[in-house]
Amino acid sequence: MRMFRGFWRVMGVSLLAGVLLVMPAAPGRAFGSVRPVPGPVLRAFDPPAKDWQPGHRGVDLAAKVGTPVRAAAAGRVSVAQVIGGRGVVTIVHGDLRTTYEPVRASVRVGQQVRAGDVIGAVQAGHCAGGCLHFGLKRGDQYLDPLGDTYGQGTGPVRLLPASAVALARKLAAERAAALAAGDVPHGSGVLLNPVGGRITSPFGRRFHPIFHEWRMHEGVDLQASCGTPIRAAANGVVRSVSYDSSGGHRLVIAHAGGLTTHYLHAQGYRVHRGQKVKRGQVVGRVGSTGWSTGCHLHFTVKVNGRLVNPAAYL
Ligand SMILES: [Zn+2]
Ligand SMILES: [Zn+2]
Repeated sequence: MRMFRGFWRVMGVSLLAGVLLVMPAAPGRAFGSVRPVPGPVLRAFDPPAKDWQPGHRGVDLAAKVGTPVRAAAAGRVSVAQVIGGRGVVTIVHGDLRTTYEPVRASVRVGQQVRAGDVIGAVQAGHCAGGCLHFGLKRGDQYLDPLGDTYGQGTGPVRLLPASAVALARKLAAERAAALAAGDVPHGSGVLLNPVGGRITSPFGRRFHPIFHEWRMHEGVDLQASCGTPIRAAANGVVRSVSYDSSGGHRLVIAHAGGLTTHYLHAQGYRVHRGQKVKRGQVVGRVGSTGWSTGCHLHFTVKVNGRLVNPAAYL
C-alpha cells in the first residue's frame, strides 16, 4: 500500500467522495482497497494462454451464500443482470472493470459506488460450500485482482484453512487428469478432424471456462481461428442445422454404423437438412456463437445416441 500512501500525500485529502480513483494495477499489487468478501482464496488466478482455452479468469474467495459483497474500488455499475442463471455485477473503474459472480445484485446499472459499498449478496453455484468469483479486466485482458497478496512476492500471505487447501489440491489434480486424458495420440482415423486443429479441451469432466465449475464436456474443442472451413468428418446425411443459446449454430451429421457427428459454435453452415455430404466437404465456417469464449470448433461424437470420446475416432 506504500504507493497508495504516496499518492494520497501528493493529492492531499481534497479528493471528494465520488471522484473516480483509478490506480493502474501494477503487476504484483492487489487491485482496489477492499476485498469483496473476507474469505480465503479457494482457487487462484490461472489465466489461459489463449482465450478459448480452459483456465480460471479470476479468483474464488470462500463465502457462504448470502455474504454481503463489497465493491473493491469506487466506480460505476455497468452490469447487474442474470446470465445463464447466475447474477453478475460488473463495475467500471476507468479502463479497468471488476466482476463479481454469482451475486444477487442490490445495485442497478449506472449507479456510482464507493469502495466498500455493498453491491449484493453471494449466491450458490460457483464452488462447493460457496464462494465469490472475483475478476479484473482491462479491455479483453484478464488480470489478477489480488496480485501478489495471494501467497507470493512480498505481500501478506493469507494462510488457507486445511479444508480449502484440500479442495484446491483436489481441483488441481482433477484438472491435470482431465488435461492428460485429452493427450490421446491419435485415434482410429474413422473420422476426419473437421478443422485440422489440435484438441485444446478434452472430452470428459473439465472446469467450465464460462461457468467456472466442473462439468461434463460432451466433446472436444478443436483449435481453429474464426472463419476456418469446417469439413464433414465422414460421408453422411445432414440430420439437423439449428441454433440454440448454448451450442450456437449447431450441425448434426448422421453416418453409417449409428455414428453421428455434432459441430457447435459455428458462424453458420452452408448445408441443409437431408443433404448428403462427403468426407472433407466444407459444411460451414468456425465461429464463436453460443456459450463460447472465442473461436473454436466444439466437436461431439455419438454412437447410437451415446457420447463417446471423439479423440478415439480422429
Ligand atoms: Zn471462479
Ligand atoms: Zn466444447
